[in-house]
Amino acid sequence: METVYLLLGGNIGDREAVMVKTIALLNQKVGIVLQVSSFYETEPWGMCNVQNFLNIALKLSTRLTALALLNVLLEIEEQLGRKRNPLITDYESRPIDIDILFYGTAIIQSCRLTIPHPCLQARKFVLVPLCEIAPEFIHPVFQQSIITLLNECQDNLEAVAIKPYIS
Ligand code: AMP
Repeated sequence: METVYLLLGGNIGDREAVMVKTIALLNQKVGIVLQVSSFYETEPWGMCNVQNFLNIALKLSTRLTALALLNVLLEIEEQLGRKRNPLITDYESRPIDIDILFYGTAIIQSCRLTIPHPCLQARKFVLVPLCEIAPEFIHPVFQQSIITLLNECQDNLEAVAIKPYIS
């Protein structure tokens, strides 16, 4: 079993309902969801004139390899209405995006996967929810805790907790 941290984000449709559905599907298809942060409202990063995002960080335990996990996450995104436009490589609005932040303490750099997620240390919309559930987790590349990375993060876009997740 491996312990994994994920970030969920979405800014289209009933954002909260999609997150709750995503967590149910993760429990069915991926493993055991152990901990879920509050819902955070965050300003869109790298996009203008679109609805704010809702974000959640969660911890789960899985028997899947990192690549098998990615494939199931992509299936769940598709099942929940995510459409990918191969011509758009920038950020775009989406009902759900699931990022793998950490897969245990693994460091993976392949054509399909970069773990730890490459930009997490620069973005408060990742660090703030993650810090709620894993403040002392040590980033395997930077060898610093999540709370330290958050305290040092220069991102000026805030993430605001709006309500707890209740299962
Ligand atoms: P997007 O959903 O647009 O953020 O990008 C999804 C693609 O990013 C996936 O098809 C993966 O191949 C790639 N990717 C690379 N590293 C990660 C990661 N840590 N978590 C999720 N997707 C990743």
